Order: sequence, then structure tokens, then C-alpha cells
Amino acid sequence: MALSIAMRRVYLDHNATTPVDPAVLEAMLPYFSAEFGNASSIHSYGQQARAAVERARESVAALIGARAADVVFTSGGTEADNLAIFGVVDASRLEHKHVVTTQIEHHAVLNTCQALETRGVEVTYVPVSADGVVDPDDIRRALRPDTLLISVMHANNELGTVQPLEEIGRIAAEADVYFHSDAVQSVGKIPVDVEALGVDLLSLSGHKIFAPKGVGALYVRSGTRMKPMFFGGHHQRDRRPGTENVAAAVGLGKAAEMARAKLPTDSERVAQLRDRLESELESRIPCIRVNGKNARRTPNTTNIAFSYVEGESLVIALDLKGVACSTGAACSSGAVEPSHVLTAIGLPPEEARASLRFSLGAGNTSEDLEFALSVIPEVVEHLRELSPLYKRPATAR
Ligand code: PLP
Repeated sequence: MALSIAMRRVYLDHNATTPVDPAVLEAMLPYFSAEFGNASSIHSYGQQARAAVERARESVAALIGARAADVVFTSGGTEADNLAIFGVVDASRLEHKHVVTTQIEHHAVLNTCQALETRGVEVTYVPVSADGVVDPDDIRRALRPDTLLISVMHANNELGTVQPLEEIGRIAAEADVYFHSDAVQSVGKIPVDVEALGVDLLSLSGHKIFAPKGVGALYVRSGTRMKPMFFGGHHQRDRRPGTENVAAAVGLGKAAEMARAKLPTDSERVAQLRDRLESELESRIPCIRVNGKNARRTPNTTNIAFSYVEGESLVIALDLKGVACSTGAACSSGAVEPSHVLTAIGLPPEEARASLRFSLGAGNTSEDLEFALSVIPEVVEHLRELSPLYKRPATAR
């Protein structure tokens, strides 16, 4: 008889996705069974579904300081980014169109901008500092008379660095240019208020805040000229046709409500764990560096370059020992390309390839941290021993 002993596992990859919170699942369940109505139907089944969707819209709006009427449910962060960018560009009657963004955006924004370029729209990709933060003056300098949109993410998914949106919001308002922010990695982790940030459009995603995958939202300030990407019925004020996914909207609403209530305590606790993880790793492992350390960062994220190791191998070796984390590298056509974010902050390709992201969540405990700390230094040392380039510093012997 095979003896199976459950291996201890610690999940430190919450920027990739989060588990659905049991309370979120519980809130959603009735909408798969008894409360199955179509929110557009006028009978009581429909009315119940409509009421649930609108309550969820209010909860999402409350989390970001918006009016419920300005929140559009989408299939996730990617769709919200596409809708914001294509929607504003398509609605503009300008003959020449120019968009300003940064070099460290998520591919949901970068590849949307590249698609715009194939349609003749010009895009400026503004560089960032060595700590992964864009200078608002560089955004200002990139503006042109034909600029119609600025898109700058709130928190970077790889580094956690928080971008100076308030200043960029003021620049956008002065220049009368629309301002979109991909806030997928900041919502639920730090306070997000659309008025304080001065954004006209803001994207968020359910599965980063303990709601399911496949649901998100776009905030669209009232009066913003935006074309829909899809065509169909008159759902969601014609901005996103299609029968609303009631259960998913309810899940996002519940997660938003919980995030709003728990944000101050959770973020402080998670920040303490992250800071301890960072300082312990720095003291136990030679030749490492925390990327973006001097910038304001989301409380849960740390990105660390472990010189002389190959990041993908380290992720796999850590996973085998029970620690789940990730690299920023995207694997394309068999070759591991260094992350565009780490390249943009000036890391040489070998340092970018040696970098790992650990992203904590509210469910992580100090026991998780102790476990991770008992595993990571040993695994790094083991992989380094295989590297012909690595020489142990005398102090580490
Ligand atoms: N934007 C950022 C910054 C992200 O981190 C992600 C997901 O990783 C997305 C957009 C895409 O969101 P979704 O997975 O909901 O499409």
C-alpha cells in the first residue's frame, strides 16, 4: 500500500491569482441554482437577478470611490484594459491619434497599444526609473496636441511599485486628455479612489481579490466618450452588451465588500510578513537584491534577483519543496525572454532571468513564512553550486 504523506505547501503567488474566498463562493452559489434569472427579464426571477447585479455594482463602486452607474462589469482585467483603450480611441474623431503609456505596463495594455499602432495610432512608451516608477514630468513631456489618452498602471504586477497617479491625473486634466489606469494589482491592496487619483477610466480584476477568474470591472467616469467593443443588446448602458454573469458579478461584489472592510488590517499584516521575508532572505543569502526596493510598493510584493541562478529552475526547485512563487519572465517560442519590466528598470538579462516574485496574501501566516525561509536559502545555494560562475563569498562559508 502506498503511503502518502501530505507535503507542506505555501502559496506565495497572489499577484498571479488568489483562491476564491469561502464567503465569496457562498454568496455566489444561489445564483447558479434557485436565483438563476436573467437580469434583463421583467418577472420576479429577473428582478432578483437585477437587484443582485446592482448591489454588486454598488459594492465595487464603493471600493474605488465611484458612483455605481460608472462601473461596467467585464470578463476580467484584460477586457477592462482593452475596452478602456480601444473604446476611447475608437470614439475619438481626431485624424491623428496619439496615446501615452509606460514601458512597464501589463501585456493587457502593452499589446492593446501595439494593436493600435497597426491601425495607425501613435503610441509613446515612457521609460521608468531604476526603481520602477515613472516620472510624471516624462509623461507631461510626452504629450502632444493629438494625444487623447494616457494609460499608466497603478501598481506594477512584477515589482509592486506604485505609480504617481495623482500627479499624472493633474497633468491629464490640465491637458484635457483622458486618463486610464490599470489598477488590477492595487485594488484591494492599497486605497484606490478614482477622484483622488484623477482617473477617467480604471480597470480591476476579480481573481486578484479573492473572487473568481473571468470577472472584472471598468470604471468609466460619466461623460467619457467611449465606444463599446462588442455589439449586442443594450446591457450595461450599451457599454458592454451581453447577458450579465450574475453569479460572477455577485462574487466580485462580495470580494470588493470584504476588501474594503479588511484592507487596512490585512495590508499592514501582509506588509510585515513581506518585510520580514525580504530582510531575512537578505541576511541569509549573499548576492541578492530586491528590485524596486526604494519605491513605494504594494504591501504584498517583493521581487528579488538571486544572482547566478536561473529563475525558471529556481521556481521549479522551490515548487518541488513546497513553495509556489513565479518569475517575471514570459516563455515565448521556447526561449525564456527576460521580463520587459525588469529590462525597463535596467537589469541586465542575466539578472532579470535570475529574479523571482513572491506575492503574499491575507491567508499567509508567520508559519508559512518560516517554512519558506527554511526552504529558499538552501535551494538557492544548491542551484548556485551548479553554476560555474558562482563563488561563495568568504563570509558565507
Ligand atoms: N493587468 C495587470 C496589472 C495584471 O496583473 C493582470 C493579471 O495578471 C491583468 C491586467 C489581467 O487581468 P485578467 O487576468 O483578469 O484578465
